[in-house]
Amino acid sequence: RIVYLNGEWLAESEAKVSIFDRGFLFADAIYEVTAVIGGKLIDYPGHAARLKRSLAELRMTCPLDADSLLDVHRQIVARNNLDEGLIYMQISRGPADRDFAFPANPTPTITLFTQEKGILSSPKLETGISVITMPDLRWVRRDIKTVQLLYPSIAKTEAMHRNADDAWLVEDGFVTEASSANAHIVTTEGKLVTRSLSTAILHGITRASILDLARGAGVPAEERAFTPQEAKNAAEAFITSATSFVMPVTRIDGEPIGAGIPGPITQRLRAAYVEDRRSNAI
Ligand code: PMP
Repeated sequence: RIVYLNGEWLAESEAKVSIFDRGFLFADAIYEVTAVIGGKLIDYPGHAARLKRSLAELRMTCPLDADSLLDVHRQIVARNNLDEGLIYMQISRGPADRDFAFPANPTPTITLFTQEKGILSSPKLETGISVITMPDLRWVRRDIKTVQLLYPSIAKTEAMHRNADDAWLVEDGFVTEASSANAHIVTTEGKLVTRSLSTAILHGITRASILDLARGAGVPAEERAFTPQEAKNAAEAFITSATSFVMPVTRIDGEPIGAGIPGPITQRLRAAYVEDRRSNAI
């Protein structure tokens, strides 16, 4: 693979970052993941906007202007002949003598790499995924997309050990989100319910797109928190993320949701997302 690091295009084995980088020592870094289909970027403007927001929240600066950032995204796709998969981009505050306080004039580290991944088709689309519920023990600024991903890694690993695919995290009795995706249910009345935006969840770009498309698809939507019990009683459930788009959830804590198969509204929203976002890919 050819990767990007601080203005250079390198073979992945040649790309090296300082052990004093604050991304490595303090998880003082933010990231974005953008899906690529047919060599084009999906929902890119949303990811670029959220990147700006995450940087501002942490008083970090972007080493590239908006045009250059898009250009680097396009180049990495071309240089790797990427047809379907994802682009991972990370910006850390950069290297500095180890000290908790932010350094005065750091030079940020920016890196991008690609991963090939089947997004349009996945065997899990036929069956849906199973989730377990776990307490949400992450820090409380989940709206900032930091690389502080230890707890989501623990949750995902625990799900695997319990023969499930993912974990839905629960705080004060309500589902926040999945380990690396937003969580949604469809009530027996056919209403889409998804948690409203706050510092408790990541403001998913796919979530926003789905809410938008639901309006067009005649699916009423309500932004509010729901409990695991409400999810168990729901007609359908799904998760959204840049690399899974809309993925049906058919079991929660071992119990089937609705008929235990991917639901019609979930499938309609996925189809609408694929069609709309592919035709608007850049
Ligand atoms: N929540 C969390 C915790 C995530 O890690 C992600 C994906 N990185 C999402 C939600 C989904 O966000 P998006 O649709 O922008 O990928």
